[in-house]
Amino acid sequence: MSTIPSITLNNGTRIPQLGFGVWQVEDDAAEAAVRTAIEAGYRSIDTAAIYENETGTGRGIATAGVPREELYITTKLWNSGTKDWSGPQGQDAVLREFDASLAKLGLDYVDLYLIHWPRPMHGSFGNIWSAFEKLAADGRARAVGVSNFGPAQLDALREQSGLVPVLNQVELHPYFPQDELRAYHAEHGIATEAWSPLGQGKTLLGEPALVQVAEKHGRTPAQVVLRWHLQRGVIAIPKSVTPSRIRENIDVLGFELDEADLSALAGLATGERIGPDPQGFDWN
Ligand code: NAD
Repeated sequence: MSTIPSITLNNGTRIPQLGFGVWQVEDDAAEAAVRTAIEAGYRSIDTAAIYENETGTGRGIATAGVPREELYITTKLWNSGTKDWSGPQGQDAVLREFDASLAKLGLDYVDLYLIHWPRPMHGSFGNIWSAFEKLAADGRARAVGVSNFGPAQLDALREQSGLVPVLNQVELHPYFPQDELRAYHAEHGIATEAWSPLGQGKTLLGEPALVQVAEKHGRTPAQVVLRWHLQRGVIAIPKSVTPSRIRENIDVLGFELDEADLSALAGLATGERIGPDPQGFDWN
């Protein structure tokens, strides 16, 4: 079993604080990547319908030989395209998408199901959330949450429903630490999950201030960034298809960043995103 810490969510379920993301992993590569990750000690896997690798991810889960109840599987509704999600057929459409994801994964429940994007320019996501309420009540999604939501959309959900999303998965890394949104989440019992937690591994991991902290601890820059997420109470889901990096990214216990390290990392914040701003971005 992994010794990675976990976080208790607002419905009483627990999520490992470090998981394995599979965006941009081809379906036929996902099986090996997921199996390698589980063998390395990851117990949480983050996929999505739009990644088109739920089948390979499911095969990796099936062949890794770890009991289902020890794993934490997240997938996401691709609430985009030309479907009328807010119309009367919206709920049925969600349930059909969910069934398709489960079938591809080869599972009979997921631990977490997320609305992938808010798409505020398309109005209400009320019907989608009603379907999510049903999935949560049925236990086919042990927990439900959202991704890329801002306070306005979270407020709208809280007004509509007594079912508060367990977490919001958003872009978050030292360049873009999301302190305001994290404060909102904390106030409302919503956990924060970081996507692109390594800043997609580009310039961030070569930042001199980060490299210096890594050298001080005898760790790699990626390990320091992941440690930073853990110490801030954030859930992180780094991606890699390289076995040595998959193992490196979970080897983040046994050292602690101190105040000087944390302020060195705080100095990297630029306030700039790598991905699109969900408030103004539509996938259509
Ligand atoms: P990431 O920050 O995890 O970076 C991954 C990249 O960093 C790898 O492709 C590799 O090039 C590099 N890398 C990984 N480990 C490294 C190491 N130890 N040393 C050096 N380089 C290393 O970026 P990501 O894949 O964009 O995000 C992680 C996961 O978040 C995704 O796989 C996906 O599951 C999720 N995600 C969700 C959304 C969303 O809208 N909800 C958007 C993007 C990503």
